[in-house]
Amino acid sequence: MRCLECHAELDQLDNAHLHECCGLTLQEYAIRHHISLDLLINQASVNQADDVSHYHLTADSPSDRANTVLRAMLCVQALAQEQQFLVFNGDIRRLDELLWYARELNVFGFQYRQEYIYAANSHRVIAENKLKVPASYAHKFPTVATDTADQLFTAILLALTGEYFNEYVFLTLPENDQLASLIDRLRAKYQIRMVILDAVSASNTILYRTESVQDGQRLLELVSSELKHIPCVSERYFGATEEAVVSKELVFDSAHFITDHPGKCENLHGGRYNLIVKIRGQIDALTGFVIDYGYLKSVVKHRVIDKLDHQTLNYVAPDIAWRSSTELLNIFIWEQLIDYLPGLQEIQTYETTQSYCTYRGPSLDEMQKRSGENPLKYFSSKKLGDSVLRKQLLLQRNKLKAVSD
Ligand SMILES: [Zn+2]
Repeated sequence: MRCLECHAELDQLDNAHLHECCGLTLQEYAIRHHISLDLLINQASVNQADDVSHYHLTADSPSDRANTVLRAMLCVQALAQEQQFLVFNGDIRRLDELLWYARELNVFGFQYRQEYIYAANSHRVIAENKLKVPASYAHKFPTVATDTADQLFTAILLALTGEYFNEYVFLTLPENDQLASLIDRLRAKYQIRMVILDAVSASNTILYRTESVQDGQRLLELVSSELKHIPCVSERYFGATEEAVVSKELVFDSAHFITDHPGKCENLHGGRYNLIVKIRGQIDALTGFVIDYGYLKSVVKHRVIDKLDHQTLNYVAPDIAWRSSTELLNIFIWEQLIDYLPGLQEIQTYETTQSYCTYRGPSLDEMQKRSGENPLKYFSSKKLGDSVLRKQLLLQRNKLKAVSD
């Protein structure tokens, strides 16, 4: 077998050779040269069990820095128990990030391993990239929470659970006191406000978003000196990539009637609506996605479909009670989504295949800065009922009442 990197003739291409010849792992070599891993792998390496005897615990005490990195990882439950090991599962696009953790956590006995498993479901050998430590070493892990290393701790949270969309940072964090007090401290000490978005994520986790563009900037300023040195992750927050628009189409069935409308639509009637939601954003270098379609679907379902499907639109919200036209419906839908999808570019609602409305609303930033009355919010405006004419009507009525009494 000839190595396509150094052209040496070899009996077996393996990580030991690649490590010296080009620094790649076998999986990266397979991807770079678009060769199936099955053809490269030595069969003895497939499904090979790991052994705790390959690991050793040093007598060195962990530095504050190592403690902080591990404490942040434990806090977001980044380690899973697999047989006798605690494992952090990485992925090949973020291998250098995994190696960075491996170096930071070396003192606890963590080691990086690329393991090869025959995946029966896809009939092929797949590689898994893991940071592992024997579970019996956990007695050396830090337990005491200190708040002296907010920058590093928060940077690790952003690395492990953060997403960056159009200048807003999203964090999906487990519910625990330590993280809740960090969120409070970010606000009190660093003027970084995070808002909680109601659940579209797994149970026992909370989805946070930086409240404004400025909060996002302050958060990145706080962590940048650390985050910039974490390989791969820095690309997500500080890199520039191509933009693309992704769309998701969902349907809902609703009834409605149009008040004061001289036509058939004044009658209660039902129909199927097609909703197309378009998101524009940078393609995340680490995922290859602008946004995960699964997340997009869950947001649209939770925020829109669950509210409108099999409902009478007139009884869903004040702004569509009077006139649930596709135009006003689109504005309502935009407002439901923009907090979760700052890259929202356009929505289209089809009432029939021939009749549809396209809407491009304000950005989240513009929305937050908006003030003043909106003529499309007539029925939900606090001023409705407050006019001079209505006060005069009341006076007249009271006068008439006094006379008749
Ligand atoms: Zn080679």
